[in-house]
Amino acid sequence: MEQKIYLDHAATTYTKPEVLEEMLPYFTEKYGNPSSVHSFGRESRKALDLARDRVAKAINCDSSDIYFTGSGTESDNWAIKGVALANKKKGNHIITSSIEHHAVMHTCNQLEREGFIVTYLPVDKYGLVDPELVREAITDKTILITIMTANNEIGTIQPIKEIGAIAKEKKVLFHTDAVQAIGSIAVDVKEMNVDLLSLSAHKFYGPKGVGALYMRKGVKTQQMIHGGAQERNRRGGTENLPAIVGMGKAIELAVTDMPIRNARIQSLRDRLIDGIIPSVANTILNGHPTKRLPGNVNFSIEFIEGEALLLSLDLKGIAGSSGSACTSGSLDPSHVLLGIGLSHEIAHGSLRLTLGDQNTEEEVDYVLEVLPQVVQRLREMSPLFNQQEGGKTYV
Ligand code: PLP
Repeated sequence: MEQKIYLDHAATTYTKPEVLEEMLPYFTEKYGNPSSVHSFGRESRKALDLARDRVAKAINCDSSDIYFTGSGTESDNWAIKGVALANKKKGNHIITSSIEHHAVMHTCNQLEREGFIVTYLPVDKYGLVDPELVREAITDKTILITIMTANNEIGTIQPIKEIGAIAKEKKVLFHTDAVQAIGSIAVDVKEMNVDLLSLSAHKFYGPKGVGALYMRKGVKTQQMIHGGAQERNRRGGTENLPAIVGMGKAIELAVTDMPIRNARIQSLRDRLIDGIIPSVANTILNGHPTKRLPGNVNFSIEFIEGEALLLSLDLKGIAGSSGSACTSGSLDPSHVLLGIGLSHEIAHGSLRLTLGDQNTEEEVDYVLEVLPQVVQRLREMSPLFNQQEGGKTYV
């Protein structure tokens, strides 16, 4: 029987059957517009309110501070552009890190084109931002700090609480992209000292195309999508109710099941790491050894090309991802891998495997069997790698 093993949960997850089941009636019999006053509308409004309550509970905030969006990307755009544009009389300086997701990085790049000044803080070799560097970067023109909770490529978890405390002390607004963190680590906006936080349902076994933004009451932001009075007059457009209902159910499950799910996923992750490092020579683990997401594995495997590795693994039924060139549609390897100090050559040979709740030990063992063979075959074909009698020489 052909094996198919999905190890790309950081890209997206499947939607849980319990989640889908709650969503389905909102496509068919419960199709009222939440803004309508009649019974159909009221029924939908109730579902919208419940979903908002569930999201709020999961991150410990008031329901009235949650705004539904169309994606994590939209939430990031809204948080960053919204704060920048609404506060530009106060200042034009934004602080972020050099390893943010494109949804944050490209938004900051755009604001630079519009006259804002952005500081992209360096990270250490594990991908960690030093909170003291954040403090030093703050000027009297700083209006926003945006640092992700956990990195999507290397899984490094940032010291958000410490950075948040500095932002609070300096009275600078603090946004965090928690898209990869929800369901993987505890997220509590109060404890983390954050003013704005982005979420996306398809990363925690919910549907795609729905996100949310937490905005603490009193935070001055500009509206991005003008239209009707939805989302308390701050984001126009009829709500994607089936998806929002799904997001509410998914986040509830993601948070309640977290300890058991993550203990399992983390032990599979460690089995993968502990198995690969000794069996594939010249392989390094990217990201922090302990401050990393429970399901994240990211290796740089020297003398191979990440894209070729992905295709070879795919032929063996293993679905992973890479920070190498073609995946991202650009010639440069991932800015995250370069940001942690890898050379272009090493960054090109990277492999990300991200585990989820349906993966098994047998699947991990299959990867442990297949990966060394695939790497060896690719290295034998590599002009960068010469195998010689009595040892290996690299040219
Ligand atoms: N931020 C991070 C850290 C992500 O990993 C992703 C998705 O890959 C996003 C933002 C974008 O989320 P969405 O796919 O919902 O637009």
